[in-house]
Amino acid sequence: MPRLDDEPLLPLTQFLGDADRHWLSIGCRTLGCQRTVKMGFRRAVRLAAGMRTEDWLARLRCTACGNRNATLTVCADSRNPDAIARDGFLLVTRQE
Ligand SMILES: [Zn+2]
Repeated sequence: MPRLDDEPLLPLTQFLGDADRHWLSIGCRTLGCQRTVKMGFRRAVRLAAGMRTEDWLARLRCTACGNRNATLTVCADSRNPDAIARDGFLLVTRQE
């Protein structure tokens, strides 16, 4: 039986089904930096290459300050269905 500690806190692949309407905001927690980038789930899954989310996050290096101190937030497209149908999915969610 897998231990709870073996499960990633945020399994990236579980979001692939909703990847058109969700993305990650990946931020640097270094005091005074706080650089943030947006990343679609398809790209995140590809870059994580099977790593647990926490392990992948620990490897990310901030391009502004050079530290490895990232955090992530799941973001959702809150536009109504008519707006999405009219304007299409957001660019960030279309990243491959
Ligand atoms: Zn930084």
